[in-house]
Amino acid sequence: MLVVMKHRATADEIDAVVDTIRELGYDARPIPGALRTAVGLIGNDGHVDTARLEGMPGVAQCITVTQPFKQVSREWKEDDTVVELANGTRIGGTEIAIMAGPCAVESEEQILTAARTLRDMGATVLRGGAFKPRTSPYSFQGLGEEGLRLLAKARDETGMAIITEAVDPDGVDLVAEYADIIQIGARNMQNYPLLRRAGRSDTPVMLKRGMSATIDEWLLAAEYLVAEGNHDVILCERGIRSFNTYTRNIFDLSAIPVVRELSHLPVVADPSHATGIRSKVVPMARAAVASGADGLIVEVHPDPPKALSDGAQSLYFEQFAELMEQSRVIARAIGRDLLPALASPTASS
Ligand code: PEP
Ligand code: MN
Repeated sequence: MLVVMKHRATADEIDAVVDTIRELGYDARPIPGALRTAVGLIGNDGHVDTARLEGMPGVAQCITVTQPFKQVSREWKEDDTVVELANGTRIGGTEIAIMAGPCAVESEEQILTAARTLRDMGATVLRGGAFKPRTSPYSFQGLGEEGLRLLAKARDETGMAIITEAVDPDGVDLVAEYADIIQIGARNMQNYPLLRRAGRSDTPVMLKRGMSATIDEWLLAAEYLVAEGNHDVILCERGIRSFNTYTRNIFDLSAIPVVRELSHLPVVADPSHATGIRSKVVPMARAAVASGADGLIVEVHPDPPKALSDGAQSLYFEQFAELMEQSRVIARAIGRDLLPALASPTASS
């Protein structure tokens, strides 16, 4: 439930509402907005004394959040959440964030070549899995902590932020030591112990949609993260399973405007896993930007045929350059833009 304060409510009036909610045995969270502050009542069991709250000075009204997901809903918070990273990347603002890199970190040379080139082409976040949740137990599983160290080296050299996956609850703290964003993969979207652990981290989390998850299930999974106290959550649409065999998944583009309406959280699109085919990635990246995605996460490899995972969907650098150019034109056509490229470390020092 939300206790909506009047436009001119004072800080003392807001504090009094918070205290009363706590006295009633619930948790309270003030949510400042552009027009007014609301106080979220967490854990509504249907027995809240709304009359008592509505009678308090400065209170405009109490609103019941009708969605099953509460804190991630637009009803709860009207203004867009913007996740800000240490290198200045903002995900969820007017400008679109570009995350790119190989599926997996394979070697120092591979990740540094990718980072340098992608940074120069305008990406501000470097992706690369160190722990890979592979469909087959015999496939390359990632370099583990050594992969994280190589990502950190790439960040030190290029200034890019790092996004990389945590695959189990015990791995969250280790990944958070190195990463700017913890990725939770499609296969783990409903791994509740993992969600709870990542929800207790103060590192932003990107939650990929499960391959057969409904939008409600996806948002409820995000609610786990926020309910544990992590408000820096980014959603990622990466395609869902269907009967078509021409692409790896079906890119559910309509989920992007749907989720942007239902939730204040930023939504990033992953046209690489959604299509699984290199030649389909750039067209679907264009479509994702047109549909309102707040960012793109794309697999790019210095030598795609030699990639140890997801080579068939990994772009060549030239294709990524084309993606950047075309995405920028589309972003501008809808009143947005791509985030500016990072200043080169040599120029700024
Ligand atoms: C990945 O990002 O490389 C990955 C494994 O993605 P997903 O969880 O969407 O399959
Ligand atoms: Mn991949």
